[in-house]
Amino acid sequence: MVEKPIILMPEDVQRILGKDAQRNNILAARMVSDIVKTTLGPKGMDKMLVSPSGDIVITNDGVTILEEMQIDHPAAKMMVEIAKTQESEVGDGTTTAVMLAGKLLENAEKLLDQKIHPTIIAKGYKIASEKAQEILKEIALKITKDDEDVLKNIAMTAMTGKGAEGIKEKLAEIIVSALKQVVNQGKVDLDDIKIQKSKGGSIEDTELISGIVIDKERISYDMPRQVKNAKIALIDFPIEIKNLEIDTKISITSPEQLQEFMLLEERTIKEIVEKIKISGANVVFCQKGIDDFAQYLLAKDRIYACRRVSRSDMEKISKATGAKIVSNVNELTPFELGNADLVEEIKRGDETLTYITGCKNPKALTILIHGGSEHVIDEIERAIKDGLGDVASVIESGLVVPGGGATEIELSKRLRDFSQELSGREQLAVEEFASALEFIPTTLAENAGLDPIDSVTELKSRHDAGEKNVGLNLFTNKIENVFDQGIIEPLKIKTQAINSATEVAIMILRIDDIISSTGKSEKSSFKKSEDYDNL
Ligand code: ADP
Ligand code: MG
Repeated sequence: MVEKPIILMPEDVQRILGKDAQRNNILAARMVSDIVKTTLGPKGMDKMLVSPSGDIVITNDGVTILEEMQIDHPAAKMMVEIAKTQESEVGDGTTTAVMLAGKLLENAEKLLDQKIHPTIIAKGYKIASEKAQEILKEIALKITKDDEDVLKNIAMTAMTGKGAEGIKEKLAEIIVSALKQVVNQGKVDLDDIKIQKSKGGSIEDTELISGIVIDKERISYDMPRQVKNAKIALIDFPIEIKNLEIDTKISITSPEQLQEFMLLEERTIKEIVEKIKISGANVVFCQKGIDDFAQYLLAKDRIYACRRVSRSDMEKISKATGAKIVSNVNELTPFELGNADLVEEIKRGDETLTYITGCKNPKALTILIHGGSEHVIDEIERAIKDGLGDVASVIESGLVVPGGGATEIELSKRLRDFSQELSGREQLAVEEFASALEFIPTTLAENAGLDPIDSVTELKSRHDAGEKNVGLNLFTNKIENVFDQGIIEPLKIKTQAINSATEVAIMILRIDDIISSTGKSEKSSFKKSEDYDNL
């Protein structure tokens, strides 16, 4: 008897098993790590990413690169996820996290070659990662939020190599000053600081403004350019006559009816504007449109108005001025209005912006980035965000570590010592974990054109001699106490990077079966039946 083959899955489902699955995933993960590697550190290079529509992004930022690349491989996508988590948790250290994960997997492959089972490697990595967190707490240094110089150094370290070189100091001052103003019982809400980009001028003009700046101008020149003692209404419904070409739910049969309808609409607009005026508002920010007729009426009442204000700006203005966002004009009373000393339209460079200053809530701040081209402004924005994230994390935790590879070397050394206490194969895994950490100083040196082996050897021997803050200073190309040189990072960058890199490495290691469906099966069977019908 001929046995019928058992068919579990449609033909177009691909399956990769065992070692092949592991190698395939590890290779993909390493490729991701290799991509971002060249951008690490102050001497890292930038990447130019061109989208199908020809848009260009030039950046040194790990997470931006990976997001723009539209990576497709599932394991590689998991690597991109680490970068995203790192970005949302700390705001910096994305390249580091991805590189560590890549190296952990590369080293795991060596152990796999020695026939060590993936679950043993996973266990060893887990032990190492937990121990690393302990060691990091031991080697971290405590600072307070009044150590302004240290905070500035942290901001500068975060921004090195990100196109902000010339004005790092000024930006660091802005970042520290902004964060010190918004800190509330030791916590920082980065949403309190709005970043507004303005094309024109040069990056040196970048400034910190107490208040909110939005990239909107008043909608009519007949409106006042400046409103003192502003009473602000935030409206999220349109103030316009319904567009008959789009909204055709009504049926109109005669020109008179149309006329009547228009009049009715006009009356509605008049009523809305009247109600705004009665509420006492002299400034209106509308999330939707405001049509010509409404503009005319608002201008007549000396009301400053902006339309199509983004939701996030509406929310920021609400927080800053105490105004409530209203969705129905009948809800608009003096209680819903917000307050600011001044609302003013200011033309800067190519752009006209609206400044809302002297807000009720003094914690509302805007960092206004100026710059000659969008690419420059965008990269400065990313640098500032890294700086904000790092300094905020330190203000909250008070814990910092030296940069320039010093922390990784110290950690690696202590993990090796610790591995001696373990027995068997887990010890090997902990050792590989320790050596993966050296990938950071090695790459920092390599990217700066230094000899990576010499550099790491010297670093190791000085750490063995007890100099735990010695790292690579890539400003001077010297191996020295980098903490004293102001190359300082938040502890959280390292704890988070190690945590998520280990997690993803373990997750990828545990996979020994990849079943991927191309999703074509339904279509192809459908086509077949169609063909059959046509016969
Ligand atoms: P990430 O995306 O991981 O933050 P970066 O390109 O910002 O990557 O590089 C961060 C690394 O650069 C950190 O290891 C940091 O310690 C190091 N670094 C920053 N400034 C210096 C410096 N002046 N000398 C040496 N290393 C530095
Ligand atoms: Mg960084």
